[in-house]
Order: sequence, then C-alpha cells, then structure tokens
Amino acid sequence: MGIGDVTPALSDDIRHLNRAISIALNRQLNARTVDTLIYLQEVAVTWLKDRGYRYLSIPPDSDRRNNSFVSKLYGLFCHKTAATCAGLGWIGKNGLVINERYGSKLSWATVLTDAPFEPDEPIQESRCGDCDLCVRYCPSGALVGSNWTVKEPFKPIVRYDSCRSLKRDLKDFREKPNCGLCVNICPYSRMDNADREEGETFQCCTMAL
Ligand code: SF4
Ligand code: SF4
Repeated sequence: MGIGDVTPALSDDIRHLNRAISIALNRQLNARTVDTLIYLQEVAVTWLKDRGYRYLSIPPDSDRRNNSFVSKLYGLFCHKTAATCAGLGWIGKNGLVINERYGSKLSWATVLTDAPFEPDEPIQESRCGDCDLCVRYCPSGALVGSNWTVKEPFKPIVRYDSCRSLKRDLKDFREKPNCGLCVNICPYSRMDNADREEGETFQCCTMAL
C-alpha cells in the first residue's frame, strides 16, 4: 500500500478527500481477493473514523458489477490514479499499473480521505522503456505502444474495442475478463524483481519466451 496526493485528479464534490490510500494484493482478481481487499479497506476506514477523518472507499475492480450502493462509487475515482500517485507503479503499454516488483498482476482498492498523511513519491512517467512485448504479441492489436506520462492523461494506450472484440470472438475467453496475454507476457509480471540484481535488465525474461 501507499499514500498518494491526488489533489489534481479530484472532482469538485470530493476535492477535500485529497489523500488516497492505495491498497494492492498480489493475487488474481476473484471473489476471495475482492473480499480481502474490502476487509483491508474496512480496517483503514475504522482507523480513519476513530480519529474523526472523512473517507470514501472506492470498491475493488470486479465489485463494481454487483448491485450494492457502494459499487456505484466505482466511477468516482480510478484505482490506477491512486496507485501512480502513491508511487506503487506506472501505467504500462498494456494499460495496466506495472509495479516494479509484482508487475501487472496486482488487484487494487482505494480509500480517499482528508487525513493529512504525508504522501509517497509519485511515479509520473512510464518505465517500460524500449520494451514493447505486450504491444507486439497482443492478438487483437489493441495496444497502441505509447509511453504513459501524467502530462498527457488523454493519450490513447489501449483500443478497448479491439480487446473486447477478441474476447467476443474466442469462446475460450468468455468466462475470463480478457485473454490476459499482456499481463502474463510483461517481464515485470514474470519474475520476482526483489531477487533481481541492481542494474540487471529483464532481457532474461524476453529470451525465455
Ligand atoms: S487482454 Fe489480450 S487482447 Fe486485450 S489488450 Fe491484453 S493482450 Fe490484447
Ligand atoms: S510488456 Fe513491456 S511494454 Fe508491456 S507493460 Fe510490460 S514492460 Fe511495459
């Protein structure tokens, strides 16, 4: 988890909640993961409530599809913004948050608050560098190949229609959110970077393909 100063990303009605507690689990997003993320959000909320701070929990990704009131809050704030502001990763050429240690396999939840936490150092530029593995191998051609930067928030990265059309066309993927190749092929997702020597590149992973 990390704390982000999300002031520039807030709409007027929630501008006072300018700190984001960004929570990630290194687990596939399934019902158990969602339950754990919600539990962790509740721990944070209890802490904030006991101290008189205001808060707003943004539900974990797949929880937005249920019919609860809280799921309607999903659209208010983006987990990716909380994660990058909290220094937990950058937006990769696959359109997902890439964490240096765990890649793009993390599942996310966010709690916004007015508690005056000291924010972590944000990440504001892509660190994908010259790598374009996900772009080259995406079977639907959905990935544009652009490097993300906070300075150009509307720069296209993923053609979501192309990604969805592949899911529609291939019945093997219908039970899954998408084909997932751009997650699994990412070198950052394919090794525990805690074990990587300083300065070592991820070339070993590309050679293993
Ligand atoms: S999920 Fe599959 S089709 Fe969609 S962007 Fe990733 S690699 Fe491409
Ligand atoms: S595969 Fe390479 S270009 Fe794609 S998100 Fe991972 S590091 Fe970035």
